[in-house]
Amino acid sequence: MSYTIAIVGRPNVGKSTFFNRLVGYKKAIVDDISGVTRDRIYDVAEWNGKHFTVIDTGGLVFKSQDVFEIEIKRQVQLAIEEANSIVFMTDAATGITDLDENVTELLRKSNKKIFLAVNKVDNPQRYLQAQEMWGLGFEDVFFISSISGSGTGELLDAVTALIDNNTEEISDLPKFAVIGQPNVGKSSFLNVLLEEERNLVTDIAGTTRDPVHSVYKKFGKEFILVDTAGIRKKAKVQEDLEFYSVIRAIKAIEDCDVCFLIIDATQGLESQDMELVSLVVKRNKGLVILVNKWDLVEKDTKTAGEFESKIRSKLAPFDDVPILFVSVKEKQRIFQAVEMGLQVYSNRKQEIKTSDLNEKMLEAISKIPPPSYRNHLIKIKYIVQIKKPYPVFAFYTNYPDQIKGNYKNYLENQLRSLYNFKGCPIRLLFKDK
Ligand code: GDP
Ligand code: GDP
Repeated sequence: MSYTIAIVGRPNVGKSTFFNRLVGYKKAIVDDISGVTRDRIYDVAEWNGKHFTVIDTGGLVFKSQDVFEIEIKRQVQLAIEEANSIVFMTDAATGITDLDENVTELLRKSNKKIFLAVNKVDNPQRYLQAQEMWGLGFEDVFFISSISGSGTGELLDAVTALIDNNTEEISDLPKFAVIGQPNVGKSSFLNVLLEEERNLVTDIAGTTRDPVHSVYKKFGKEFILVDTAGIRKKAKVQEDLEFYSVIRAIKAIEDCDVCFLIIDATQGLESQDMELVSLVVKRNKGLVILVNKWDLVEKDTKTAGEFESKIRSKLAPFDDVPILFVSVKEKQRIFQAVEMGLQVYSNRKQEIKTSDLNEKMLEAISKIPPPSYRNHLIKIKYIVQIKKPYPVFAFYTNYPDQIKGNYKNYLENQLRSLYNFKGCPIRLLFKDK
């Protein structure tokens, strides 16, 4: 089950700094609509082998002074609604402010687990000063410096202790998620799949928290649709809608085997879609791209081909992905879409015979061996597929750290040409023999 942690607090306390430390890199996303670059507000992270999603609510608003209080209140409410637990950040250097008190009051009304992170505790003197934060009345208080990282490990240990990634499989059936930007046709697609009430076989018990898992039978196939309830939720405010759709998408990705990414044929593959693709890849999930509203596109014989190669060039290097042109409205190629989802599902979990894998891959490697490292020959001795729900291959070699990106791409491409991994990200590991 996906687990979401939100970072809340007034501006300038260091939320983004902490967030960037947590997700391991700094990356800006470009907002197509307003043309401005804003900080990335969500990402997936890992700590001690636990996976979770982090939301930096501070990135949600334009930092204008007068709307402060209203905005912060809204953010905190969104966080309370969507997150499993909340990191409330304050600033040791400024001490407790009115806004901190306001946020505290909102948080107290929620029943979510709250961790108070007192930031900018860079030295012992700050640490003494920071003790006043106990006055806010939280039980779990951590004194950290997001810049140096001190104390952040303990905070993360505590936060992630609550995460139970041990998803006992609720079923062997393929789990599909439908993701995409607002208005691309996600609900319509789901409605077509769910059309006949008979399709709804069961609601699986014990999934009281969202996403809701339901088993559907369509075209004689059984599968589970993740987060259908959440996707249908409509928000009042435009930014909230965007926020919800992103957070729901992340949760759905987390909980599925294969994602249907729906894009609008009249818009093409946009940067927001690429964000979703990168999350899918990061989480090693299967991917099928549905170009919807194909009925609205004026076409000749070349249109689909050109459209498709444009999408593939944006997806590169992960361009071995099925792309289907559909019209949910006219119910065109819905069956193929489901078929394709099932195909990707089986591609993703296929197990390759070790002997076959070694025979074919070692041949490819001997044809084009890895470039040598400082006059040392790099040898790949054998290859093992690691037992995981997604494709992972370990290459045993004398110089595991010296295999470069280009050669990794070569190996991946060989695997893709030998076996059918369409729609599946592949992980390659290099290990000491
Ligand atoms: P946000 O508005 O809450 O997201 O805050 P930012 O992450 O943008 O940080 C605001 C300012 O505080 C920046 O200048 C950061 O460099 C600084 N800052 C963040 N963490 C620390 C810290 O641990 N110690 C100190 N001294 N400064 C910090
Ligand atoms: P969601 O926000 O992604 O769930 O999108 P909806 O399913 O609510 O669809 C948004 C709008 O696009 C609605 O007006 C749909 O009727 C319309 N729509 C969905 N699929 C198609 C399609 O294949 N062709 C056309 N022309 N319109 C569609």
